Amino acid sequence: MEHTNIALCISVSPRLRGSIKRLMPNKLQQDHYKVSARDKEESEQYLHGRGAQFNTKNKFLKDEITREHAEGIDDWTDPNVPTQYLEQQSKTIVNKVDSPDVGMAYSMNAYAGCEHGCIYCYARNVHEYWGYSAGLDFERKIIVKMNAPQLLRKQLMHPKWEVMPIMVSGNTDCYQPAEQKYRLTRGLLQVCNEFNHPVGILTKNAWIIKDKDILQELAQKRLVTAMVSITSFNEELRRVMEPRTATATQRLRVIEELSNAGIKMGIMMGPMIPGLNDHEMQRIMKSAADAGATFTAYTFIRLNGAIKFLFHDWLYKNFPDRADKVWHLIEQSHDGKVNDTRWGLRMRGEGAIAQIIAQQYKKYGKLYHMNEGRQGLDTTIFRRPGEQGRLF
Ligand code: SF4
Repeated sequence: MEHTNIALCISVSPRLRGSIKRLMPNKLQQDHYKVSARDKEESEQYLHGRGAQFNTKNKFLKDEITREHAEGIDDWTDPNVPTQYLEQQSKTIVNKVDSPDVGMAYSMNAYAGCEHGCIYCYARNVHEYWGYSAGLDFERKIIVKMNAPQLLRKQLMHPKWEVMPIMVSGNTDCYQPAEQKYRLTRGLLQVCNEFNHPVGILTKNAWIIKDKDILQELAQKRLVTAMVSITSFNEELRRVMEPRTATATQRLRVIEELSNAGIKMGIMMGPMIPGLNDHEMQRIMKSAADAGATFTAYTFIRLNGAIKFLFHDWLYKNFPDRADKVWHLIEQSHDGKVNDTRWGLRMRGEGAIAQIIAQQYKKYGKLYHMNEGRQGLDTTIFRRPGEQGRLF
């Protein structure tokens, strides 16, 4: 799509602007980093409790709001505004996943955007499809699909529906804070339980415990697996990298409590970031295994689309001492770029660092007996309400 007349309101430090100039072609510099006096002033204020510190340009929008003359605007809002929930009635809830390297056929989520605010989150780019920015908007403008459970029921009632596990958190976290108010993930699980439909969950939030009762029922029918994502035990890192998530210690408690309740639990280490958290892989895997996790997965950092700009800003603001090193290690692992769209390679990276991480993953996985005797979920007991069960 052609963009015209674009100037984006963002906050960047003089130091960052220098490094951006080294990294970006002129066109990108103009589009993404037009800075006003007001922006410069705000750039000194770190937005604690948020991952992104600004809004990147939405590539689908022709026009953007600018702040070139901020002194003329009387009612400019505080940049650290509270999260907004945007309630809507959606048309669909289940998405077919075409990517061959993500390990799921279908995903569904009642929430678009994620208040957890992980700076590296690949789902940020998807927020542009909704008309918002992948930056701060992604964390504080959360779309709530109020009719999600009804839509799932309709989908499963369709005579042509083929039973395949659906990932409830394929894009954003289904137990993000909005769930405490709306309980739509619980509604989706209730529908799955009623239809005996297999489902997978991935979360960084301890609120999943609230659904232990339904998860137990699903587990007894071999209809659910749940993964908890842990990236670091370093609280200083987590607080800025994944600001509104549960601590690693809380996440381990989740694994322990749910696995004690008979639910098959796994540990996701995603993403591994060289120079920031890659040295923690063994500790994460061992702690998760001790807590009861029996399977595992990991991803390697990649910075596609707007995440490149957001992560760069975040990295230099929070870790100026090692930012250059981390950035270059990411580049080295993706053929000289930080973004990567190559199937298979994009999630794992390549080169020396990516290989070391892959070897460690294999070694510790074996040591802690992860992924042994994995069983698939049951797709044979699906039934629609009123049916007695499938004949074949
Ligand atoms: S919890 Fe998951 S979906 Fe939410 S911001 Fe973090 S990585 Fe993205």
